[in-house]
Amino acid sequence: MQRIVNCPQCGKKVVWETTHHFRPFCSGRFKTNDLSQWAQESYRIPESEKNLEDKDQD
Ligand SMILES: [Zn+2]
Repeated sequence: MQRIVNCPQCGKKVVWETTHHFRPFCSGRFKTNDLSQWAQESYRIPESEKNLEDKDQD
């Protein structure tokens, strides 16, 4: 039995297989972009927390 999902980036139908490393995306290009965006977000969070701590100390 095959499970079909739509690629979140381009809407193309993708067969959901454990051997398909790019799921749910149709190609690894999208997933790489997503991960780099996520990494940038995760770097921003400690920065804002640090700023809040500085305010509390004043
Ligand atoms: Zn796609």
